[in-house]
Amino acid sequence: MSKVSSAIASSSTEQQRCMTSSSAASSVVALSSSTLSMGAVPATWGSGLSIAADWTCVISGRLFQLLWTTRVRRPDEEHTLTNYELGRAPRTIAGVAALDSLAGVIEATGAAYAVLIVDEAVAMTGYAARVANALGDVAFVEHVVPQGEPTVASVNAAADAVRSHPAAVVIGIGGGSALDTAKQAAVVGAGESGVEAYLLCANPFVGRRPIIAIPTTSGTGAEVTRTCILSDADGRKLWTWGDEMLPDVVLLDPTAAMTMPVHVTAATGLDAFVHALEACSGQRRNTLSAAPAIQAMRLVVQHLPGAVADGTNLAARQGMQEAAFLAGTAIDSCGTGIAHSIGHSLGSLYHLPHGVAVSIGLDAAIDWNVAGATDAFAAAAVAFNTSATDIPAVLRELFTATSFSSVVGRMPAASLDASAIAAAMIAVENQPMVANNCRVPSDSERQSLAELTVESWHRLRVST
Ligand SMILES: [Zn+2]
Repeated sequence: MSKVSSAIASSSTEQQRCMTSSSAASSVVALSSSTLSMGAVPATWGSGLSIAADWTCVISGRLFQLLWTTRVRRPDEEHTLTNYELGRAPRTIAGVAALDSLAGVIEATGAAYAVLIVDEAVAMTGYAARVANALGDVAFVEHVVPQGEPTVASVNAAADAVRSHPAAVVIGIGGGSALDTAKQAAVVGAGESGVEAYLLCANPFVGRRPIIAIPTTSGTGAEVTRTCILSDADGRKLWTWGDEMLPDVVLLDPTAAMTMPVHVTAATGLDAFVHALEACSGQRRNTLSAAPAIQAMRLVVQHLPGAVADGTNLAARQGMQEAAFLAGTAIDSCGTGIAHSIGHSLGSLYHLPHGVAVSIGLDAAIDWNVAGATDAFAAAAVAFNTSATDIPAVLRELFTATSFSSVVGRMPAASLDASAIAAAMIAVENQPMVANNCRVPSDSERQSLAELTVESWHRLRVST
């Protein structure tokens, strides 16, 4: 049995134990409209300096398989007092019947009209038509987002559609690009300025429309984050951030992901793993965010190979939707790290898809991260019931189990320039991810990481 499967078997056993003995000590995490409430978390803050969490998650009345027992030791095996804040959690409705709730959800927002912001590929699969049917009597207009990641121009076009319907709810349907576009359009469309005015938090937002997110990929976590990643006319990847962009309602319908192509399933699913790992190992890691990150990593390893092997496996699809959601909540509070700095650099310079780029970035950085900041991987070690030094092996087993090399092999040939990557890693839009990484590189270390990135690119392509 591989390290990963043995760790998962052990985790499952642990969860089973937890499920049969949780009645006395369980606490309930209810993800409901705009609040994340917790019952008493059984915690021990003593000489053992650990926290034991035994949580049952209920999302919109449905008991989820998100029951886990977590024993997290803080870095250095010692809990230190930390200051942090968790974001809101949207009302979330999950399962194959999720779409049945849509008309009622819209009625609850008070909106009389809907603007559907739809991924171009999803518009062609017919899923957008299913959403339109689920609207019932609610009138709507459909705005199709062009293929590729959001740009200033594509976001402004979507914002114009929102601006034309002042009483509308905005419904994002698609992958991270469509959801980011919908979130951003719902906010920008409430004012007169274009998105240029809000890049890198240059100005506060002036309003918002109600937002419903229906993800059709499982990885970005865009349905639970308060940011939008978009490119300017020069191809630079920039971002915006604001609480106004958090969706009010998320529908996690596993059937929405069934038509996702294999390579997209693998790349986006790996992105969720990178999110969870970077969130729980970065400078802003905290105990409450480590819990969903740990569960997200377990869910990815449990379900991503199955979703890649058979896209119609709805149990695997739902497991990955839950993983992406949980990892998204973790990065919303903790941010990402150097794999995302490298990934965004690769996206800006060579237009690699986000999931592919950050996975290559993590492959390049993971050994250096773990070697120099081993304690930061305590939570990840808990996830797989292994030691922190085994985490790089866990990642590479996951690459094998999801045929990641074949995904990299699909990418057009590119001649990667290490010095250009090293420079892009500390561009103003990428520097915060470097600064949040568990280990902050010197200039020469950053150059070495960029060279390792080029090596990873070639090695992964050759191994197809
Ligand atoms: Zn990501």
